[in-house]
Amino acid sequence: MILSDTHTHTSFSSDCKTPMEELIQRAISIGLKTMCFTEHMDMDYPRQDPDGPVEFVLDTGSYLKKYLEMKEKYSDRIDLLFGVELGLQPHLVDWNSNYVNQYDFDYIIGSAHTIGRADPYYPSFYEGRSEREAYTEYFEEALQDIELFDGFDSFGHLDYVVRYGPNKNREYSYKKYANVIDPILKALIDRGIALEVNSAGYRKGLGEPNPCKDVIIRYKQLGGELITIGSDAHTTSSLANGFDVVESLLIECGFKYHAVFSGRKPSLYPLG
Ligand SMILES: [Zn+2]
Ligand SMILES: [Zn+2]
Repeated sequence: MILSDTHTHTSFSSDCKTPMEELIQRAISIGLKTMCFTEHMDMDYPRQDPDGPVEFVLDTGSYLKKYLEMKEKYSDRIDLLFGVELGLQPHLVDWNSNYVNQYDFDYIIGSAHTIGRADPYYPSFYEGRSEREAYTEYFEEALQDIELFDGFDSFGHLDYVVRYGPNKNREYSYKKYANVIDPILKALIDRGIALEVNSAGYRKGLGEPNPCKDVIIRYKQLGGELITIGSDAHTTSSLANGFDVVESLLIECGFKYHAVFSGRKPSLYPLG
């Protein structure tokens, strides 16, 4: 059984209202042994409304303070880890390098949430470009992000963009995008960066995690071994969501272990 959730958000992330302590209590009640908080830190996140509030900039000092308090309070019941989900963009290399060195994170997820400084979450993103063009651009920029900056431990939700396209994943397959996905998988393997299997894909109606099964199989074929597993929970009910299905899927794909990072180093736990 998977007893660690390595991708979770609390009210320190600007798109989440769940108090940290509520998430911890839920984790304990469902039997998790380890939980890593990975709050959003997306510098220069493109705002829909230029006059709207700044989003996804983490008050890391306050987050650390609360984390230390909770870690101590619950130390006999659960192992809590201090992580961050860092938004990757090609122009942020210096900023992100500097940021990750300022704190003793246990775990850093690198995630591509934008394409060309725009967010594919919004339907307006697809005006004037086909879904295929948009997905291809997403994968190309993700590769660029990894080639420019590798100061993170796992790459988050690799085919994230398919959650938001006009046809979601109905016209998407690994095969169709193999020419842009393979270089990403190779870049991760070459750099010793893990591939995250993010179970939120099930909640988003994809019927698969992100990335999809065929991408996970390809990662294995290319020699990839390091897998991290996260629910991307923003609510208590999403915590460790779909982990039983993810576990069977990973075993089917030939994996025997999943990794949990602490102090930026992976420990391996058996699947099954
Ligand atoms: Zn994300
Ligand atoms: Zn997330």
